[in-house]
Amino acid sequence: MHKKLFIPGPVDVRPEVLQAMAQPMIGHRTKDASALQRGITEKMRKVFQTENVMVLSTSSGSGMMEGAIRSFTGKGAAVFSVGAFGKRWHEMAVQNGVEADLFEVPQGQPTLASEVEKALATGKYDTFTITHNETSSGVMNPVQEIAEVRRRYPDVLWLMDTVSSMGGTSIPVDELGVDCCITSTQKALGVPPGLAIGSVTERSIDRARGKGQRGFYLDMVKLYDFIFKKDHQYPSTPALSLMYGLDKSLDFIMEEGLENRWERHRLNMEKVRAWGRKHFELLVDDAYASRTVTVIRNTREISVGDLNKALGERGFQIANGYGELKDKTFRIAHMADCTSEGLDEVLGSIEEILSL
Ligand SMILES: *Cc1c(COP(=O)(O)O)cnc(C)c1O
Repeated sequence: MHKKLFIPGPVDVRPEVLQAMAQPMIGHRTKDASALQRGITEKMRKVFQTENVMVLSTSSGSGMMEGAIRSFTGKGAAVFSVGAFGKRWHEMAVQNGVEADLFEVPQGQPTLASEVEKALATGKYDTFTITHNETSSGVMNPVQEIAEVRRRYPDVLWLMDTVSSMGGTSIPVDELGVDCCITSTQKALGVPPGLAIGSVTERSIDRARGKGQRGFYLDMVKLYDFIFKKDHQYPSTPALSLMYGLDKSLDFIMEEGLENRWERHRLNMEKVRAWGRKHFELLVDDAYASRTVTVIRNTREISVGDLNKALGERGFQIANGYGELKDKTFRIAHMADCTSEGLDEVLGSIEEILSL
């Protein structure tokens, strides 16, 4: 039996998207391949609210994050972390010999604009990274405020991880001034895992060109140049099947309308937060609440493993807490095609299982 997924990726995928992935192969150096990627770019630009060049990588989101921090950082990166995925940027920097300082906050807290200001004011950094939506803690960072501070340091490139939020809430990439914004297919976009998509500014690519040792497969300059050299093609053979799936999913996203989609995600969040508050406690304050995943404190000290097992027998799956938050919290994701009715079912089942 398929378990309905309420985990923060991978998410359930529409049958039409799965079917689109079963199409016969085309050559990756054909006009059809260019048209496929160009179509994805055009729709993706609307989702990202950007005019920037869009690049794809046949890797999950982490691949492009690694490529970005390595390609774009010269003298140093300020890595702002509010949880496991923020720390990942730092580990990537270290493993690639990129100078980076890690700025952390207690679990459940956001990256404050004042902290970004303090770090950028030192002049030590030419890039900084922000996790838009930290999937381990359920924090969505105050990026409008961060963008205001950053306007005083325009030369520092802004790299942002929007892996678990792009498509689930408004992230106006150009208005914020993000130089490289990255997401994956398997979260709020409703596609199987395996592709990363990013927007990049021309100035960040110009900066990266002057830098040696950017790696090969995930070199952001190479990915960028191929868009122009080969009309929206990819340097190696891309995951064409996933591209078909993504293209189809973007059609559904456009059909729903971005504003409607964001509103649906907001209402889903409200529902899960109200439920979490009623029966448990929430990890994150309303002001920084994620639109796509809610982290609930395990105040009743239930066994999250047993709960998930019982849910599994009813055809549902939720997520345990991540890393240090395992068993101390559990997570309910509400992203991609998640509906209010679907949430009623899973929340109702939890109430029955725990006799709430
Ligand atoms: C899932 C996730 C990642 C990792 O993305 P992959 O596509 O699994 O490599 C990075 N950042 C955040 C915030 C995530 O939720």
